[in-house]
Amino acid sequence: MKRAQTGQVSRIGPDPALHGHDTELRWVEAVLRHRLSLNSLGRPVSIRTKDDDTHPLVADGQHFPAVALSIPFADRTLNFLATYDDDRRLTFDLIGPCDRCGKPVPMEEINSLEDLGDHLLQARDGLGGSPRLRTSPAHADGCLARGN
Ligand SMILES: [Zn+2]
Repeated sequence: MKRAQTGQVSRIGPDPALHGHDTELRWVEAVLRHRLSLNSLGRPVSIRTKDDDTHPLVADGQHFPAVALSIPFADRTLNFLATYDDDRRLTFDLIGPCDRCGKPVPMEEINSLEDLGDHLLQARDGLGGSPRLRTSPAHADGCLARGN
């Protein structure tokens, strides 16, 4: 209405930032803590959280990096990658060496403590693997595990 009457372009200003970058990382970390019920273990669990150098936050995305999280767990460190899946849902993959090229790639989708337990105990014959294993840009050039 205002533009029609005055000919002025309405001023909407820049898009508001959703939240700061550090806040985003802490939020992703909090989601992982919740999904894995880490706060119920009765002891503090430290998570190292940073931008991932290789993977985008969304498939085909260019602007935002995925989030890499490391959790010291018993005798090993579990490395996770946080990305948004096709339904725009935050999802976590356990990172492990590719069977073919050895590069660290998303191996298994782990979105609950039960998933993690199954994986650690190898209770099931694998959980089916991460759908991001095939598309990961982390594979070596020409790795056959990477699909097109
Ligand atoms: Zn590979």
